[in-house]
Amino acid sequence: MYSVTKQIEFCYGHRLLDYDGLCSHPHGHNAVAEIEVRADVLDRLNMVVDFGDIKRLIKEWIDRELDHRMILRHDDPLVKALQEMGEPVYLLDSNPTAERLARLVFDISREKGLPVSKVTVWETPSSWATYVG
Ligand SMILES: [Zn+2]
Repeated sequence: MYSVTKQIEFCYGHRLLDYDGLCSHPHGHNAVAEIEVRADVLDRLNMVVDFGDIKRLIKEWIDRELDHRMILRHDDPLVKALQEMGEPVYLLDSNPTAERLARLVFDISREKGLPVSKVTVWETPSSWATYVG
C-alpha cells in the first residue's frame, strides 16, 4: 500500500456552543489539514496522485471557503451579527470542532473526485483530529 499526504495550512475562527470551557468563546487557530490518498498500485507516472492535483482541488477550496473565516454552527447567534457586518462565515450543521472539520474536508475531497483515505486537522501543534473514510 502506498500513500501520499499533502498539508494545507489555513487560519480560521470558531467557537463551540453548548460547551463549558474556553472554547465557548470566539477564538482562532492556525490550522493544518493533512489529506492522505492511498493506492495499491501506482499510476503510469509512478504516483499515487500528483501532489499538485491535491493542491489544485483542495487548497483552492479551503482558501476560498475556510481560510480567514469564522466557522460557526448555523444557529450560533454570532452568525447574524457577522453577516450584517459583511464578515465571511462558513456554517456547519453542528459544532465546528477539529473532528467536524476533518470530516468536512474529507467529504469535499471525495466530492471533488479525490480518492482520499484520511483527513487530519491539526488545531494546534499538539491537538489534532482524524476522519478515516
Ligand atoms: Zn478552537
